This record gives sequence, C-alpha cells and structure tokens, in this order.
Amino acid sequence: MEIEVIENKNNKLRFIVRGSNFTFVNALRRTIISEVPTLAIEDIILVENTSPVLDEIVAHRLGLVPLTTPPDEFTVASECDNCGGEGCQFCSVPLTLEAEAGDNETKMVLTKDLESNDDKIKPVSDKIPIAKLGAGQKITLEAIAMMGRGKQHAKWSPAVTCSYRYYPLVQQDSSKCTNCMECVDACPLNILQVNKKVVKLTDPLACLLCDLCTHACSYDSLKMSQVEGDYIFLLETTGVMTPIVAFKKATEILKSKAKDFENEYKVALESFLKRKK
Ligand code: SF4
Ligand code: SF4
Ligand SMILES: [Zn+2]
Repeated sequence: MEIEVIENKNNKLRFIVRGSNFTFVNALRRTIISEVPTLAIEDIILVENTSPVLDEIVAHRLGLVPLTTPPDEFTVASECDNCGGEGCQFCSVPLTLEAEAGDNETKMVLTKDLESNDDKIKPVSDKIPIAKLGAGQKITLEAIAMMGRGKQHAKWSPAVTCSYRYYPLVQQDSSKCTNCMECVDACPLNILQVNKKVVKLTDPLACLLCDLCTHACSYDSLKMSQVEGDYIFLLETTGVMTPIVAFKKATEILKSKAKDFENEYKVALESFLKRKK
C-alpha cells in the first residue's frame, strides 16, 4: 500500500491511498469518526442563568463546543479505572464560565468566556456564540469536559468530514470516437479534454464519477471507471487535533483491535480443539 499526501492545511488532509481495498479504507474512516477520543463538555452545574436561553439549551450548546485535545494525555472517561466514568484528573477537565451584561447593555456570551484550569484545553474558536444576555442578565456555570468517543455521541468525534472516493479511470475505445466533444460539454466540472480522439481527465482528483460524460457519448466510445484499490481520502477535523494526529491515532486503534481479535481468536480456537479431543 502507498499513501501520497496531496493537501495538508487548515485542519484538512487529502491523500491518495494506492493498492488497498475499500474494506480497509472504510474501517479507517469509521475508526477516525467513532473511535478516536476527544474532550467535550459532558456535565454542567448551572449556578445562575437569568438569560432568555433555557438551561438545557445552554448545556447543549456547550456540549458541542470543540475543545483542543492533547493526544495521549487523558483516558476515555467510561474506560477510566480510577473513577469508573465519574470524572477525575485522568479523564476530565473542569471549566468555568461567568458572564454578565451591564445595566444598559446587551452582551453576547462567547466561547472565549469559558475558562479552563489547563492551558492546553480550550475552545478551538473564541467566537462561538453561547447565549445573548439582555441588560443586567447573567450566566454563571461550572462545566466538566470529559474524554469520550464519537460512537458515544457525535460531540466527541474529531471529524467534520471523513470520506473517500474511488480514483477515476477513463476507459475509452478511441476507434469509435468522432471528436464530437459531447462528453467535454456534459462534464459539470469541465475537467475533460479530447485530443486526437483520446479523452483525458485534466484533474482526476476532482472527478465525481457522475457518469454524465459516459451518458453523453452516443458512440459508445467512453466509459468512466475506477482504478481498483486506489482511493482519494479526505479528512477535515474540527480543530480539536490535527488530521495527522487523528489519522495516526486511528491507525493505532485499528492495530490494537486487530491484535485483540487475533488473541481472542487463538483462545477460542484452543478451547474448541480441547473440547474436540
Ligand atoms: S464522471 Fe462526471 S465529473 Fe468525472 S469527468 Fe465525467 S462528467 Fe466529469
Ligand atoms: S462524446 Fe464520445 S465520441 Fe464524442 S468526443 Fe467524447 S468520447 Fe469521443
Ligand atoms: Zn477518571
């Protein structure tokens, strides 16, 4: 298997996987979405809320705030041996929020108002609105961010987009081509060229494999297909960690699951063979 990175900026990673298969690539995608752990607010103690926003809505909004998560520093709360999921220094971080509008003003409470005990754990953006306070209104709360996985709740997933596409392949019978250019005109992305009856993709990474060009060809000359085993993978994170870190973590998790499976299989096989004797 080969990997070629074609883009890595602004929490967006795009790479081509060559010589693999869709079961593996899909397992990687699912592991990133649902298994790579991150921190997210799980518990709220609302000391005071005189804003027009209901307590539940404040709690819901805070739960969805992406928080920077240093890799390998915290244990997943539900798997924490120290507290059994209640929350402790190994699996959670406390945050506080105190905001008040003056007597003659309104105030937008933003994620920058959330204060953490740990400098490494903070909202990915300072500008996410939580509630708008009217004159003299106030919100005071304590929040507990816990380590969790996307399979428990989407708020713990590090991924905004995590998907793969087949790598496109032009299959053409040039002897049937009439140079009519219908395929070129049909492509919504304008990424086809015909030169001396040979069709070429000018930007294979953009091709959606939508088949509009194939259908536009009345001469049965053109067919869009895919390169077997090659995929274009796109991973964009919320900013809680970089895509490279999320990708690395997912491969570690997959590896350890494969090892667990192997060990369990060996035990099961041995016990089966013993029973047969
Ligand atoms: S499959 Fe769709 S996107 Fe790709 S070249 Fe043909 S028309 Fe364009
Ligand atoms: S539509 Fe078919 S015949 Fe016309 S240029 Fe494209 S491949 Fe050739
Ligand atoms: Zn704990």
